[in-house]
Amino acid sequence: MDDIDLQEFLKFLSFASISTDPAYRGEVQKCGEWVLEKFTKLGLEAKLHATAGHPIVTARTPPDPKKRTLLIYGHYDVQPVDPLNLWEGPPFEPQQKGGKVFARGATDNKGQIFGHILGVQKALQQGPLPVNVIFLVEGEEECGSGNLTPFVEANQEFLKCDCVLLSDTGMIAPRTPTISYGLRGLCALEVTLRGPTKDLHSGEFGGAVVNPALVLARLLTTLHDSHGKIAVEGFYDQVAPIQPWEKEAWSKLPLNEKELLHTTGAPQLGGEAGFEPLERIWGRPTIEINGLTSGYQGRGTKTVLPSKASAKLTCRLVPNQTPQEILQKVSDHLRKHCPPTVELQIELGDGGLPYLIDPQSPYIVAAVKALKHIFPDRETAFTRSGGSIPVIAELKRILNVDVVMVGWALPDSNIHSPNENFPVENLEYGLRFNREFLKFMSQP
Ligand SMILES: [Zn+2]
Repeated sequence: MDDIDLQEFLKFLSFASISTDPAYRGEVQKCGEWVLEKFTKLGLEAKLHATAGHPIVTARTPPDPKKRTLLIYGHYDVQPVDPLNLWEGPPFEPQQKGGKVFARGATDNKGQIFGHILGVQKALQQGPLPVNVIFLVEGEEECGSGNLTPFVEANQEFLKCDCVLLSDTGMIAPRTPTISYGLRGLCALEVTLRGPTKDLHSGEFGGAVVNPALVLARLLTTLHDSHGKIAVEGFYDQVAPIQPWEKEAWSKLPLNEKELLHTTGAPQLGGEAGFEPLERIWGRPTIEINGLTSGYQGRGTKTVLPSKASAKLTCRLVPNQTPQEILQKVSDHLRKHCPPTVELQIELGDGGLPYLIDPQSPYIVAAVKALKHIFPDRETAFTRSGGSIPVIAELKRILNVDVVMVGWALPDSNIHSPNENFPVENLEYGLRFNREFLKFMSQP
């Protein structure tokens, strides 16, 4: 890696561009301006667009209607750093150790978007690019991308392209080229059960007045049957089955049961009967309880009969489920199973669609060729992700093109955690992949 490029990367990492915390608004702005300046120095037509939140940066090569157009998406904002005491060095003073750069955002997403930028930079140094390139770099990915969808909708003509490329996913193992071709979707709801109007003395009233915490526990257990299947009526109606080739390919990946037990520290795995652990994570929907609240939570004993109990739930969705459909079915289920001894209140939260692309689609094939060029003796791993990046499905929906995801995060890159890091060699891989992808994308 060129020292000038590396120094620039360290500078990019020095901005505390934490988008969710208003105290860092100035830093996010400065970081966006730095990205703008970087694009301008490359000779691109670059612009910083103010939004109701943090700015969006766009840049493009002079459009040539005879060439295909690639849209590269990324984000320059980062997650908060807490717990700060677990960091080995200051999160916004990047340190290099053992071939890695440690800093908040090193992988997610500054290292990965910087690989795209450097790849385009190197290609430009060799002459005009074989395709038109547009960059779309937002500053709100870590706080929900609230202003991105309206921006993309309003700028469809400017963002018109043949495919979207992004690196915000991972590699299955070091030096293993990985393409993610699917993501789960998401929807959220909060359930509250109200019993007596105030917390009661459990001796004076317990036994006659029903305890909302107990009702909630019972209600939540109705969501699954004893085989780990979701018992909500119609929940699986729209679920696209996992293909036989996927089952076979996934069974050969290094992400097996042993590895999952090692990574998570769980004593044993569990889940929906009839599916392997990776199939449950990548190809099957779930309902999770993310938080439970009721009664006395302090030290010691308090003989209370709580007046209410609540649970935060999220569902991970797979193609072709939609958040609207699932929220409706789960709400209906809860209403049906809730006894009249409590009042049920359901608050619906945000959602995002799942995403799946055909691994045989032409731009995925182009990506595989580019990866082969960099890793001649490695097969590209095709993975789906259990996580959700709602913006991917939105880009696909609005721009009506395939989104190609080639990620460089490693399982130990600590994204969103203390001591986030990115191997310098992955920055180099990102650079080279991007340079090659432009060529392969331009070919018929
Ligand atoms: Zn992130």
